[in-house]
Amino acid sequence: VSERSACLARWRSPAARRALASLAVAALSLSSGCRPEAERPVRLVLITLDTLRLDGFDGERAAMPATAAWAERGLVFDNAYAATTTTQPTHASLLTGQHPWRHGVPRNGAVLAESWETLPEQLQAAGFSTAAVVASFPLQQAFGFGQGFDVYDDAFAVSTGARNWEGQTVPGQAFYSLSEDVLARALARLDGLSGERQFLWVHFYDPHEPYGDAGDDVLTLSALQRACISGGIDPDVTLKRARSLYDADLAVLDRDLGRLLSRLEADGEEYDTHVVLTSDHGESFGEGGSLGHGKRLSVEQLRVPLAIVSPRVTPGRRQDPAGSVDVAATLLSLAGLEAGEGEGRDLTLAPRGGRPPSVFGMRRTFAEPYSDIRTDGSRVTVTGPRFYAVIEGTLYTGTGDDVLVEDLPGRVPGPDVVDPLLALFGTFASELSGADLTEVTDPDTQRALEQLGYAR
Ligand SMILES: [Zn+2]
Repeated sequence: VSERSACLARWRSPAARRALASLAVAALSLSSGCRPEAERPVRLVLITLDTLRLDGFDGERAAMPATAAWAERGLVFDNAYAATTTTQPTHASLLTGQHPWRHGVPRNGAVLAESWETLPEQLQAAGFSTAAVVASFPLQQAFGFGQGFDVYDDAFAVSTGARNWEGQTVPGQAFYSLSEDVLARALARLDGLSGERQFLWVHFYDPHEPYGDAGDDVLTLSALQRACISGGIDPDVTLKRARSLYDADLAVLDRDLGRLLSRLEADGEEYDTHVVLTSDHGESFGEGGSLGHGKRLSVEQLRVPLAIVSPRVTPGRRQDPAGSVDVAATLLSLAGLEAGEGEGRDLTLAPRGGRPPSVFGMRRTFAEPYSDIRTDGSRVTVTGPRFYAVIEGTLYTGTGDDVLVEDLPGRVPGPDVVDPLLALFGTFASELSGADLTEVTDPDTQRALEQLGYAR
């Protein structure tokens, strides 16, 4: 009885009644009680919060209480890692389910090839009405991120003037949007979605520098870097101020994102609503001498929030490592579709086998060697890609030539770990540099990859 009344309550709102009336199957559905799960209107939502480090969202420091409380109603992943520490490559992984050495966007400024069958394209082919609202220049349609979207809203509200971006001069124009504007556009695009299958992607940019730009006290990353060069900065004053302005931006984001989440919840009477929320990378505030993101593979930059709120998942916390590449397969599963060609796994299912899954990713590439400025004013030249692997809870980074335990400096891993990792990172490097090298034919290498949990 209680199940039936809950079911009927879900259909009691005027909007729900209108939706029902428009359905040819309405009479049949009502006569048989609840509509079968597969026949209810479905709404899939992907929310990406640019530059949100894990402790901004979760833990003692967290500055987003409303969003964190919302996430607790679903499945929260405590060990989620971004595919890269840079906006475009990670978003390309989120939308294709492919690792960054495969999808062809290893750095900002690259274009996602039309040949990829992206998540929104797969949804569109399955009859979904699709819309996206993005909040910053790197995700504008010209970079290939609009594939599969009926509507791609990349109109930005905040002008920054001409700037150098990835070696190109971007003319004075709107470069990004803050949450109030993104929220208004997201609600409008939500209203514009039609039909029984809907997909919305909303990207918020607020945590990204300039820090504090939702208020009057604004601090840019370049101002921080200039302070570093001219004699170092006082971490107790300057870095604390940067972090507190970042947290202030998170509080504003929390308010506006909360309004979007409330709207989705209210519409939940009408739609089965599945929301996946994550970030494209974190941010450094002086840890290991680093500022910002994109130049290193540190835990502060790699670990991100990841939550699924859906009637299909049992609320709780999961400890198994997850990655950006898993998001597309998970959304397809929530939509009731096949996982497709992606390399990720369906996170609605517990991992199979006795060992925790491994997670892989890389540092972005650079068109020219890049001079990274550290908090003591020193410069470190960053050139080629660097890869990472999270295996049994340990973060390793390296190239085809060296391996480090990133989060435990000084610890030297044994050859049982180093040898397969060198093979693995060498394979990633080969895939990155040669489009033809997509198959591993050497059985020893294949075995080494499988030992590490990287099976294809
Ligand atoms: Zn980003």
